[in-house]
Amino acid sequence: MSNAEATIKIKNNRKSTFIEKVKEILPEGGNLNLCLTCGACASGCPATGLENMDPRKFLRMAALGLDDEITGHPWVWMCSLCQRCVYVCPMSINIPALVNEARMLWPREERPKGILASCDMALRNDSCSAMGSPPDDFIFVVEDVCEEVKSDQPGWENLEAPMDKEGAEFFLTQNSREPVTEPEEMAPLWKILHLAGVDWTYGSTGWGGENYCMFLADDKNWKATTELSIRKAESLGCKIYLNTECGHATYAVWMGVQRHKIKTDLEIAPIVPYYARWIREGRLKPSSDWNKDMKIKFTCQDPCQQVRKSFGDPLAEDLRFVIKACVGEENFVDMTPNRSNNFCCGGGGGYLQSGYNEARHQYGKIKFDQVMATGAKYVITPCHNCHAQIHDLNDHFNGGYHTIHLWSLLALSLGALADTERVYLGEDLQEVWLPGEPGTPNPFEGR
Ligand code: SF4
Ligand code: SF4
Ligand code: SF4
Repeated sequence: MSNAEATIKIKNNRKSTFIEKVKEILPEGGNLNLCLTCGACASGCPATGLENMDPRKFLRMAALGLDDEITGHPWVWMCSLCQRCVYVCPMSINIPALVNEARMLWPREERPKGILASCDMALRNDSCSAMGSPPDDFIFVVEDVCEEVKSDQPGWENLEAPMDKEGAEFFLTQNSREPVTEPEEMAPLWKILHLAGVDWTYGSTGWGGENYCMFLADDKNWKATTELSIRKAESLGCKIYLNTECGHATYAVWMGVQRHKIKTDLEIAPIVPYYARWIREGRLKPSSDWNKDMKIKFTCQDPCQQVRKSFGDPLAEDLRFVIKACVGEENFVDMTPNRSNNFCCGGGGGYLQSGYNEARHQYGKIKFDQVMATGAKYVITPCHNCHAQIHDLNDHFNGGYHTIHLWSLLALSLGALADTERVYLGEDLQEVWLPGEPGTPNPFEGR
């Protein structure tokens, strides 16, 4: 018997009602009674050891009927629901589903305040914004930023950020962090869409991509917010529901329509494969020439929500294809392990809002070490939560690397990234290929 199991105190032969109930609602019962106790889940879980818990122990305790001990245990908020344990388990046992059901048993008001507040904010108006930003504020910020780019940045006089455009092909969601706290970060994405000739629109309602009701394990409101956003896209006659670079936003809608049986003909799509497609089709022509002599090294975080949990390794391959097109094949260094086997950074599952910051940093140490082992100066994160967490890990552990969105890198390599849009870039990239400067390619050339 391992030390972990030895610490389980079995008071009597209680029969678990919790695990039996969870088995009833999961396909194949989540394979919850097939455990071989091999320990693969626990040895590769970044949450192992936090609050003296690990995934195997959690499952064993559930099987032994220790329902009160596990369902009220704070560890359920320290597991990021990243599903790495499911990926490595020889029996594909769905421990995070068990954890999620345990979260549901917490009285709503006693769940972590930050996650609760973010879910409640999204219910305040029809934006679905976890920061409570109302539709009028969003419309104002988008118009304001777009006007500023058109007037201040030569060549972009025709830039558009359409709102409620009937019949647009793509309905684009937006993580609230940009319009609320860093609006200048939206413009690079609009420029990319403009250069690729994409017919897209925002919705004045249902635009908020993030979904903290999912992390709160509040199924009713996860469903309500997802449905509101989906119906808005449908009402505009859009065909593709395009998630911006946000892993959990993608997963919340992709899984939300399945779990909550929301019928829709919309294609639910993450943006990375579309970046790759537009490059392959010649609609976007990024160049890595700027990095030929500089040889700056880049790595990337595979967001679990968009790779392991939903779109799989093909998305991870597209991610690498886009990055290499921007920085040069020889300047990309992978983390180990990667793709579907990647470690979660510790920003998932609502961690960033949960208040368990010490645990979050401890969890994220594996990711920090992975980044440092690459020697890369930049980490590309096509996910808001990964971005925030990996950025914070750098500050906390003093890593000396930079964390940037993929849209920043792509816009830079297209010659379209203005000086005001380089907040996350290091000093070395502040002056590289500034639009209008000699040597910077004209993004419109050949169109
Ligand atoms: S990896 Fe699977 S089989 Fe092995 S201990 Fe974990 S849950 Fe059990
Ligand atoms: S979902 Fe991720 S954090 Fe949670 S138990 Fe599994 S590996 Fe650990
Ligand atoms: S924060 Fe990123 S790495 Fe962590 S669960 Fe979310 S998508 Fe995965």
